Amino acid sequence: PDVKRIRNFSIVAHVDHGKSTLADRLLEITGVIKPGTEHAQVLDQLQVERERGITVKAVTASLNYTHNNEQYLLNLIDTPGHVDFANEVVRSVSACQGVIMLVDANEGVQAQTVAVHSLAKRNNLLIIPTLNKVDLPRANPDKVKSQLKTVFDIDPATVLSISAKKGWGVEELLQAVITRIPPPIVKLDDHFKAHIIDTWHDKYRGVLCLAYIHSGKVRIGQTVKWRSGSKQHTVKFLALLRPQEEPIEEAGAGQVIMVGCGPKGGGSVGDQLLSIDCADTGDAITVAPVRHMVYAGVFPADQSQHTQLSDAIKKLALNDSAVSVTPDSSPALGQGWRVGFLGLLHLDVFTQRLLQEYKAEAILTAPSVPYKIKVKGSKIIKQYKGEEVIITNPLQLPDANNIAEYYEPLVIGTIITPVEYIGAVTSLCIDRRGTPLPSNAVDDRMTMLQYILPLSEVVVDFHDTLKSITSGFASFDYQDYGFHPSPLIRMDILLNGVLVEELSTIVHVSRLEYNARRLTEKLKEMIPRQMVQVAVQAVVGGKVYARETIKAYRKDVTAKLYGGDVTRRKKLLKQQAEGKKKMRSVANIKIPRNTFIDVLKK
Ligand code: GDP
Ligand code: MG
Repeated sequence: PDVKRIRNFSIVAHVDHGKSTLADRLLEITGVIKPGTEHAQVLDQLQVERERGITVKAVTASLNYTHNNEQYLLNLIDTPGHVDFANEVVRSVSACQGVIMLVDANEGVQAQTVAVHSLAKRNNLLIIPTLNKVDLPRANPDKVKSQLKTVFDIDPATVLSISAKKGWGVEELLQAVITRIPPPIVKLDDHFKAHIIDTWHDKYRGVLCLAYIHSGKVRIGQTVKWRSGSKQHTVKFLALLRPQEEPIEEAGAGQVIMVGCGPKGGGSVGDQLLSIDCADTGDAITVAPVRHMVYAGVFPADQSQHTQLSDAIKKLALNDSAVSVTPDSSPALGQGWRVGFLGLLHLDVFTQRLLQEYKAEAILTAPSVPYKIKVKGSKIIKQYKGEEVIITNPLQLPDANNIAEYYEPLVIGTIITPVEYIGAVTSLCIDRRGTPLPSNAVDDRMTMLQYILPLSEVVVDFHDTLKSITSGFASFDYQDYGFHPSPLIRMDILLNGVLVEELSTIVHVSRLEYNARRLTEKLKEMIPRQMVQVAVQAVVGGKVYARETIKAYRKDVTAKLYGGDVTRRKKLLKQQAEGKKKMRSVANIKIPRNTFIDVLKK
């Protein structure tokens, strides 16, 4: 099609404001699915998405639409709304010229609305402000329009009103997509150049990529190369996604297509696919690198499943380019990986997908955030070649004497809350070591608060706590604010004076005593009595901050049984023998493997 009649756009919104429902309606209007029947959320294809009712992966659909007797190609990219998947949103918008920004006409502007609006602004995208759910009796479009004016300076006259559920106003919205969003600005007669916005693995065809073509044309059989490599490849598969594949012979600049170069053809998110004569690798289309917010150890339940899990992780990591995977090992848990995630929901979804899509069961250790240290000037330890080192695992931390400065990751948190909860929300933020930024009214009932918060205080249960203290009415989103100096310290655990490496943690000094007490108490609960008394100590630089004692006890699992039942007795002894295999021994103290997995979890 003529580039002038291509529109690439995305729907962005706070979670639950109706993106997937609207996408379904657009698919109906353009004839992809039959109206009237229940096709709940065609674009949410993953099992995890259906079960959780959230969109995890961005999916593209190329739609045909006729306007004023002209045929248009509309490339719709449905995006996930949750903060953890902001990475997917960023990648989708890199191929777009505009967005439909949906706002629930009941709920009004929420924290994620603020986040997606600033994302669209940063990327110079045209924004079509759209109120959704106007069919609901409590919808208040005028009020939400004035919120949009106050918060984003959006002219109320440009705001559309729709009901994605009933289909009201959706035709007008499509017309606005055509008349307001500009066509892609691209060079058709230049060398072929495309950038990869998504990849997934196909059993028979190898890596398939979703690509946005910046210049030139591509056709089946063409010789191409990856920007990252020197090898030549042949284009084997080309298709439009409607969202089902529709094979095509050729595609040109401005289009969003599926492309594959066969099982050995490669392809990864952020890379560029170029025609072989394309010397120009300059003006790279950059997508900001992913910042991993939490790390966790991932291990097979049993070492015999290591290869299978390794395979599954590789394939899933290809589809979920936001994870980072590096090999790791632990005396207690064996060979595994240290995996970086965007947040806890991302971590949950990753493990669920491993299980559901790849039938691989993994054990995850408690998540922690990354820290940064500056190694002391002259005393650079061999393994830390640079001056500043990111620490993703407390075990990597060198001796405190060699550290000049500690840094922790901070975020800017945005909270939109009804005014009556401002007091409670403020206390929560202060308790989580937050620093307030200026606040802004959204309207007479809602306020937007912003805080600089340590990521470690946010990732675990901040969102849940915020929801519960505001009866579910406050919304939250955060943005990376980088590493900043912070008084941190490494806390170790000693059992009868012997250090247990896997239980070391990095803590803020103000949290030291609390964490020391909590961890020793929990260990006392989790470690069974032993032949000898066990002292559990939390120490920092030789000073003991908390201590618990596990009394000696001669463990005989059959003592409780009175004679008789031989089979039961045998079974118990067998269980005990198996249990022993799953113990890690430190200074003759047997620690159940679970302890290492669960003790640091909240
Ligand atoms: P997403 O998280 O933005 O993808 O939101 P969904 O499309 O999954 O919608 C969230 C919920 O709002 C679902 O229960 C939808 O049925 C409902 N919903 C979406 N659009 C409308 C609408 O226009 N009117 C009403 N009444 N409900 C809607
Ligand atoms: Mg959705």
